[in-house]
Amino acid sequence: MQPFPPPGETERTAPVINGLSVDVEDWFQVGAFENVIARSDWDTLKTRVEDNVFRILDLFAEADVKATFFTLGWVAKRHPAMMRRIADAGHEVASHGYDHARVFTFDRKAFAEDIRTARAVLEDSSGQHVTGYRAPSFSIDHRTPWAFAELAEQGYAYSSSVAPVVHDHYGWPAAPRFAFRPLASASLVELPVTTALFGGRRLAAGGGGFFRVLPYGFSRWAIRQVNRAEGRPAVFYFHPWEIDPAQPRVPGAPIRSRLRHYTGLARMAGKLTDLVHEFRWGRMDAVAAVEALRADELAAPQAIAAHEAAA
Ligand SMILES: [Zn+2]
Repeated sequence: MQPFPPPGETERTAPVINGLSVDVEDWFQVGAFENVIARSDWDTLKTRVEDNVFRILDLFAEADVKATFFTLGWVAKRHPAMMRRIADAGHEVASHGYDHARVFTFDRKAFAEDIRTARAVLEDSSGQHVTGYRAPSFSIDHRTPWAFAELAEQGYAYSSSVAPVVHDHYGWPAAPRFAFRPLASASLVELPVTTALFGGRRLAAGGGGFFRVLPYGFSRWAIRQVNRAEGRPAVFYFHPWEIDPAQPRVPGAPIRSRLRHYTGLARMAGKLTDLVHEFRWGRMDAVAAVEALRADELAAPQAIAAHEAAA
């Protein structure tokens, strides 16, 4: 195999472009707190998302990287100027659904309505055409065989909604680790969040609590392994609240949720700075376009095809 990066190149100039994404939601909208904070209370809580997104825009500008902002329709409706600023900086605006309800809580009709409403707000506020979707809490899995068909029908080019791992809140361990076409009948591409192989097991390595809690060296190892040994792009995500150590603490949340949510916030911005400088990053729509060229490898795997047949 050709050494990677080739002589004279760094990871910043290497051929593989990794997908960088931000799931834009406020501190009170995360799945971990959904049983403690009612949706009907959201409008009474002090928003912090805008300040955090502006810090992220500064970080990306300083590192000269473009990324994708998967944004809740609820947030875009209340922060149109922020959406415009994201778009004006050359980043991609994509959908994270309307108000963070997980896909497996919908039937197909309700899901269709959710993504239609979210997209209309995102496009109005940003002036961009939205072609990408990320399910809240990576909630497309074996329970939602109709979700990809609905995304394709509404004209989405790609989704990044599957975590191909075992996890207590989400995950579809039978799904492929890299880009695949979930439907034989449509060009829609799914870009699963990155996993690394360690001792034959899949480890979540594309963001979330693991990135905040483990040393940065683990992420560096995982992304290098994916880029160099496997020759594929990594798909990484984080949230605006993760760079905000001063966010209000939510009383009454289970200890496990609190540990997961608040650990490592103070170190997060520094780790992200290292990450965006060390590797080559781009928008998710660009990664999807490159991955779509691997047509032969992308055919719906058997497990997924069986799913589609059941839909
Ligand atoms: Zn989310």
